[in-house]
Amino acid sequence: MPMIEQVIGPSTEEAAASILERCEALARITDEPGRITRGFLSPAMAEVTTLVARWMEEAGLQTELDIVGNLIGTYPCTDDDAPVLVLGSHLDTVSDAGRYDGILGVLLALAAVEALDRAPLPFALELVAFADEEGLRYGVPFLGSRAMVGDLDPAWLRRRDREGVTMADAIKAWGGDPTEVRCRYAGRRMIGFVEAHIEQGPVLEQRGLPLGILEALSGACWMRIRFDGCAGHAGTTPMALRRDPVPAAAEMVLAVEHLALREPDLVATVGKMRPSPGASNVIAGSVEMSLDIRHPDDRCLARSIESLLDNCRSIARRRDLQMHHEVLHRQRGVEADARVSALLRETANAVGVETGELALGAGHDSLIMARIMPMAMLLLRSPGGVSHHPDEAVLPADVGDAFDVLHAFIQRLARETVPDDRKTDPVFIRVDGDSGSTGVDLDCKG
Ligand SMILES: [Zn+2]
Repeated sequence: MPMIEQVIGPSTEEAAASILERCEALARITDEPGRITRGFLSPAMAEVTTLVARWMEEAGLQTELDIVGNLIGTYPCTDDDAPVLVLGSHLDTVSDAGRYDGILGVLLALAAVEALDRAPLPFALELVAFADEEGLRYGVPFLGSRAMVGDLDPAWLRRRDREGVTMADAIKAWGGDPTEVRCRYAGRRMIGFVEAHIEQGPVLEQRGLPLGILEALSGACWMRIRFDGCAGHAGTTPMALRRDPVPAAAEMVLAVEHLALREPDLVATVGKMRPSPGASNVIAGSVEMSLDIRHPDDRCLARSIESLLDNCRSIARRRDLQMHHEVLHRQRGVEADARVSALLRETANAVGVETGELALGAGHDSLIMARIMPMAMLLLRSPGGVSHHPDEAVLPADVGDAFDVLHAFIQRLARETVPDDRKTDPVFIRVDGDSGSTGVDLDCKG
């Protein structure tokens, strides 16, 4: 049995109750009455940001807003060259969202920092509440974290929202200068970014675990696949003379499912299928379908994509059809940092919380932050696996466990950070300011 560490600060139940109360308070602030919806730089985002900034200041953090509206709370630290630990998640939501996606990560981190009771730390600590992760307003995600690592695609600044306002104008109207995007941590030594987040899936619940430690964020590929055949009359064209692309599409869907069931950790989905012209008495001339395929290991993902495309080609050949495909989006997977994750896992053990390891198929701010610093995620069980929905839930006991782990993690890191040694300690990496060099394509997310 591991030793149970003494956690100093508010009781676990008190902390969990206060975190959940704050989640409720933020849920009342919305751009759409009757639903929880907060888009990039919207009035509701301004209001939640002001409220969270007040809570941060009450906890002794010095707050600032960056040029895209990310809220950063800095814990007092006298050493300008101290390595930096960044905690946080996002405050924006999808349309008609739940109460916890992103928000819980910010408020858990805030509670863990509050519980330090302003005790000095041997490292710099920043709490970040990102201004946009979901991409609701401009259809492109991670605007907050992308701005923070200094990699906001200039082409995105010309995108327009539903009212026709360009992203550049929205940033300017808010008071930011979109040309001023640069990496916040350039030249700094980093401990890493740690994000607490609901799992948004059923795995932890199914394993009976309250918390999980992230292994990797999956790589993903989105494709459009089309089979072209020959349209014809459903009554007059004999079966043997048809070049019908619909059965080919059906074969393809089954091949996708078969491969994903056989390959561990692979998930693959055909979510859209459109026969054309699409009439009940007409043999379709073509079928277009979507393929969303994800795996934590990029080589395995690439192999699976190739194998599925080979399969499509042979289905098309056998049925005398044409097959076309187009890659719409390709994102490489990111592994969580082994050292920071191990420290998180050991801390959980030490405070008596059971954790499991899991890979996630969804995108998170951590994906972007990992481009410039070690990254780890603490995942909370999602009852029913429901997310991006008003029924999104968490168990108060799990929130308490996550609070205990995060709070103890900061304390443990403080004990293990020996200022004199830190120049050589490999846990710290120095950010070179060039974050756009990883070649990770992040045009879309899911
Ligand atoms: Zn989220």
